[in-house]
Amino acid sequence: MLNFNVPAIVGNEEDYIKESFSSGHLSGDGKFTRLCANWFERTFDVKKTLITTSCTHALEMAAILLDIQQGDEIIMPSYTFVSTANAFVLRGAKIVFVDIRPDTMNINENLIEDAITDKTKAIVPVHYAGVACDMDKILDLANRYNLAVVEDAAQGILSEYKGRKLGTLGHLGCLSFHETKNVHCGEGGALLINDETFMERAEIIREKGTNRSKFFRGQVDKYTWVDVGSSYLPSELNTAFLMAQLEASELITSNRLVSWNLYFNLLQPLSELNLIDLPVIPLDRTHNAHMFYIKVRDLEIRTELLNFLRKHEIMAVFHYVPLHSSEAGIKRSLFSGKDVYTTRESERLIRLPLYFNMKESDINKVVDCIYKFFSTV
Ligand SMILES: *Cc1c(COP(=O)(O)O)cnc(C)c1O
Repeated sequence: MLNFNVPAIVGNEEDYIKESFSSGHLSGDGKFTRLCANWFERTFDVKKTLITTSCTHALEMAAILLDIQQGDEIIMPSYTFVSTANAFVLRGAKIVFVDIRPDTMNINENLIEDAITDKTKAIVPVHYAGVACDMDKILDLANRYNLAVVEDAAQGILSEYKGRKLGTLGHLGCLSFHETKNVHCGEGGALLINDETFMERAEIIREKGTNRSKFFRGQVDKYTWVDVGSSYLPSELNTAFLMAQLEASELITSNRLVSWNLYFNLLQPLSELNLIDLPVIPLDRTHNAHMFYIKVRDLEIRTELLNFLRKHEIMAVFHYVPLHSSEAGIKRSLFSGKDVYTTRESERLIRLPLYFNMKESDINKVVDCIYKFFSTV
């Protein structure tokens, strides 16, 4: 079976983990956690980075930082992973979904204004497949209505919007290092803090509501409980692994882009025949080849193609049952305006296998199989 995902291993992970356990410091915020945070602050030109246990936890921290209360409304696309919504629902918020654009599968920036009410507190753009949302429009709206912007950049490491890294454009940005993401450590994440007013409190929330970080810097002589919080810091074993991956992150990205471009070029003829749609990358953004997807005519063809690929030992998948139609979403959310594209486009999308160091012959195998399928229907 050709796997859908193979977690990247770049080489130095084992050495760094050995170094971390021989250092005698295995809990959070040791040498490797600091190196990882510094890497982001340098490479991303971000004011402060907190490495977390997951992107889900980075999103939860964002919701706490924004003081989200019962009844507050948060605007986001319905076509996303559950954590984007759950982080805010945990604080009592109501989720207001806005339709996506069919070209990028991202939130339609032109429909956001209609969803804003007196209760709206934040907009959460999700950069699907590592391709940026239209951030100029979103940031302008947020500015005019005094709303916070939390980027769900879980899939977007090293992608850019007009020359700026995803996760650095909103007030807060959340990244994921889950093993299905380009750069990973099994489970992990980061909170990028671009608005200085959140810096001190973010450290406290991540350290169980204590001012322990200040204590370690010698700024207070004992540490105590000062605010709400939880334990959002990963162990050094995880960040040692992560550091090796961050050092190789450009290599991982360029390797994935070669595979992505190969898929794109080989499948172009099917798109010209209108049998499939290929991903669209707007000219003002670069992407990190997090995902290669195609869209077929409808749900029926998708089911047939997925079965056909599986029969030929290829694991392809679809994802995201739109959150507004999920069991939990029905109770806790509403859809602003009409669902023109969210359900329709999500039902026809297929993700093809794509991972670091994927063999060219395997890409050819997947493509051949797709051609074979369309020659029979
Ligand atoms: C992967 C992902 C998350 C969750 O990341 P974890 O690190 O697994 O918590 C959140 N949002 C999106 C869009 C994702 O793709």
